[in-house]
Amino acid sequence: MVNRHVLVVGAGFAGSVTARELADAGRQVHLIDKRGHIGGNAYDELDSHGVLVHCYGPHIFHTNAERILQYLSRFTEWRPYEHRVLGVVEGKLYPFPINRDTLNRLYGLQLDEAGAAEFFERVREPRDPVRTSEDVVLNSVGRDLYEKFFLNYTRKQWGLEPSQLKAGVAARIPVRTNTDDRYFTDAFQAMPLHGYTRMFENMLDHPNIRVDTGVDFADVADLGSYGHIVYTGPIDAFYGFRFGALPYRSLRFEHEHLAGVERYQAVGTVNYPNDHAYTRITEFKHLTGQEHPGTSIVREYPQAEGEPYYPIPRDENEALFKRYEALALAEDAVTFVGRLAQYRYYNMDQVVGAALAAARGILAR
Ligand code: FAD
Ligand code: UDP
Repeated sequence: MVNRHVLVVGAGFAGSVTARELADAGRQVHLIDKRGHIGGNAYDELDSHGVLVHCYGPHIFHTNAERILQYLSRFTEWRPYEHRVLGVVEGKLYPFPINRDTLNRLYGLQLDEAGAAEFFERVREPRDPVRTSEDVVLNSVGRDLYEKFFLNYTRKQWGLEPSQLKAGVAARIPVRTNTDDRYFTDAFQAMPLHGYTRMFENMLDHPNIRVDTGVDFADVADLGSYGHIVYTGPIDAFYGFRFGALPYRSLRFEHEHLAGVERYQAVGTVNYPNDHAYTRITEFKHLTGQEHPGTSIVREYPQAEGEPYYPIPRDENEALFKRYEALALAEDAVTFVGRLAQYRYYNMDQVVGAALAAARGILAR
C-alpha cells in the first residue's frame, strides 16, 4: 500500500486534513469532490457584489484544543471574532443563549447573578434522567423559556419534537446566570483571515496532492488502482443504502445582497424561533470584518430533502448507523471520517481532530 496512491473522497475538513497529513508523510494523494470546489460546507467566496459569503451557512471557528488551532494555523492567519446571537420573541430581540439580561429584559426584572440562579431554580422542571433535548431545556430553564426560545426553533430545524432528539442537541446551548452574550465560550474563537477557501487552498497546495473537483466517487472507474480510500461522504451511500437510508437534515440557503445597506442587523446572527419558515439570518460582514457599502445575508430554511448537512441525533438513527459502522470497521482498505461518514454532529475543530486521528491510523498500518 505504501507505494500506491490514496483516494480521498470529499474535500471538506475531513478529507483535506487527512489528505495533507498523508501527503506530508510522503503518500501520493488523489482528492476528489463531487462539488465544483474544495472546502466542503465551510466553502466561502465573494458573491457577485464582492462580499465574502459562506455558501453553506455561517461558519465560525471555535475550539479549546490548542493542537487543532496550531495545526490550522499552518495554513491561515486569523481574525479574532466572537459570535453573538439575538433571538426574536414576540417581536423583541433578546440575548441568546439565555443569560441574566435575557431574563431581566423579558420579564422586567433586575436580577443579579444569585437572583438569576434562584430564578432558574424556581422555574426549572427537574428531569432525571436527562435523555432528550426536551429534558435538557425543561430541566435547566423551565417551560416558559422552553416554549419561547427552543420548542418551535427545534421543530423547524429538525422537523421533530425536542423530545424526539437526543439530549446532546439542545445541550450545545448553555444557560448563563451572568451577562456573557457570546455564542461560544471556547478559549479560541476566530475566522480565517482570508476566508476558509484560502485556508483550504493552502492546505492542499502540496506536490503529493492532486485535486479533482466535480468528480463523484460513484464515477471513479479504477478503484482497484488505489492502495487505500478515505471516504468522507454519507456512509449509507457508500454501502448503497443496503440497510435503508440514514436520515440527514438538509437546508435551503437563501442568499441576498442589500445594496447601499451598510449594516442589516446588530449582531452576526438573529434567530427566529417562532416566526418565518427560516430559523436564522446571518449577516456575513460581522463575521468577516469586511468593509463594503452594501451587505449580504443568508436565511436558512430547514428541509428533509436535499444535500445532507446534519446527522439527526436519535437513538433509532444511531442504531442504524451502528449497522453501517460495523461494515466500515471490517474494511481494511477504507477509512471513514467526518460528519457524514461518522454520522456525528461534529463542529469543524472536532472534524480536524478526527481527520488527524484517521491519518495517524492509516500511516500506522
Ligand atoms: P463536509 O464539509 O460535508 O465535506 C464532505 C464533502 O464530501 C462534501 O464537499 C461533499 O461534496 C463530498 N462528497 C460527498 N459524497 C461524495 C461523493 N460520492 N463523491 C465525491 N465527493 C463527495 N462548525 C463549526 O465548528 N462552527 C460553525 O459555526 C458551524 N456552522 C455550521 C453551519 C451549518 C449551516 C452547517 C451545515 C454546518 C456548520 N458547522 C459548523 C459544521 C461544519 O460544517 C462541519 O463540521 C464540517 O464542515 C464537516 O466537514 P466534513 O469534511 O466532515 O464534511
Ligand atoms: N436551538 C433552539 N433555539 C435557538 C437556537 C438553537 O432551540 O434559538 C436548539 C435547536 O434544537 C438547535 C440546537 O439548539 O438545533 C443547536 O443549536 P446550534 O446553534 O448549535 O445549531 P447549528 O449552528 O449547529 O445549526
